[in-house]
Amino acid sequence: MDRLAGQRGPCHAGPEGRIFSAGIEVGDESDLCPVFAVAFSGCDLRCDFCNTGRESWDASAGSIPEGVEREALLGRIGRAWESGAVRSLMILGGEPTIHLASALELVAALPVGLPVVWKTNAHGTSESNALLEGVFDCWVADLKFGNDDCARRVARVENYCSTVHDNLRWAAGQTRLIVRHLLLPGHLECCWRPAAAWMAEHLPRVEVSLRTGFWPGWFSSRHPELKAPGRLSEAQEATRIGIEAGLRLIQ
Ligand code: SF4
Repeated sequence: MDRLAGQRGPCHAGPEGRIFSAGIEVGDESDLCPVFAVAFSGCDLRCDFCNTGRESWDASAGSIPEGVEREALLGRIGRAWESGAVRSLMILGGEPTIHLASALELVAALPVGLPVVWKTNAHGTSESNALLEGVFDCWVADLKFGNDDCARRVARVENYCSTVHDNLRWAAGQTRLIVRHLLLPGHLECCWRPAAAWMAEHLPRVEVSLRTGFWPGWFSSRHPELKAPGRLSEAQEATRIGIEAGLRLIQ
């Protein structure tokens, strides 16, 4: 797909990455926080529960960081790092992999010593992995579904498991990897249990961040089970499954 020539793929992204949000956040894994989070617009998936759907489904949201705006962003990042206000910088989306060139340009201009985290849906290609190798101090990568049927129904993606499993195995071999799973109501048995079993077998040493605070939003109401917030009983059972599988659960 030649975006410079005007072609567009399923994510509709143009040749230059657009940023819809940049600032200090505290909602990520505790030893990464506070992070300075830079969020690129657009995504290659279409999760109906996406909590940033307005920008993540619209690659034209936000602005292209160039000129004065880019210098201002780098200045804010530099001041946050030097003052001790943040522990790391996180690049996320949407899905930042669809803006690889822009994301890597930004990383190249960051202050020396600032740990950089790549937050991804782990649905990239082997070509994108090759360009990301050795660049990041940590990957926070999603394993959203435990089977292809749920992925197809809720995120409209085919062959989800094989693609994401391959990428997670690759990432685990080249940097610190935190696998994130958002517990979806009603998906304990079909998604979390098989995801936990797969990690126990194939990635036994990775850190696993089980997120239990699901809140319905965006197009969640298309799915009866996703109309209500996550239930405490499911969160407790999910934690028990993770512990029994021997996962390294972190918060
Ligand atoms: S992968 Fe993340 S950003 Fe993309 S649609 Fe799904 S929840 Fe939204």
